[in-house]
Amino acid sequence: MSDSVEGYDSDNIFAKILRGEIPCDRVYEDDHVLAFRDINPQAPVHVLVIPKGPYRSIVDLAEQGSDVEIAAWVRAQAHLARELGVADSGFRILSNCGVDGHQEVAHLHMHLFGGCDLGRMIEPAG
Ligand code: 5GP
Repeated sequence: MSDSVEGYDSDNIFAKILRGEIPCDRVYEDDHVLAFRDINPQAPVHVLVIPKGPYRSIVDLAEQGSDVEIAAWVRAQAHLARELGVADSGFRILSNCGVDGHQEVAHLHMHLFGGCDLGRMIEPAG
């Protein structure tokens, strides 16, 4: 795991959750990954799956994370889809990155949505 990633702000809210300074409704944890329910759920199932390392986006993780961390993060998402009962009915995973992606929390997270018809992925750009 990378100790420091340039530009990572360790005061972001998910870093505080990882340090135990803020509580979360945890649904999964292993050595490299933490997953918890979104505080403002947009679907019956809405969890956030984060690597424990200091990565802002998937670009940081891919460029600076280890293969073990990357595999653990991906496997946790699939594991949770199964555990939360949406693997067969369908679900969506989505990661907002950076300014154009409207990323609010600058620690890499994958949203996992499910439990209802999620509609179209995105409105066509105007
Ligand atoms: P983003 O736009 O960065 O992809 O989304 C960040 C998500 O984090 C939002 O869906 C928001 O509801 C969620 N969130 C923000 N603060 C907290 C918090 O303190 N706890 C939890 N569980 N979720 C949070």
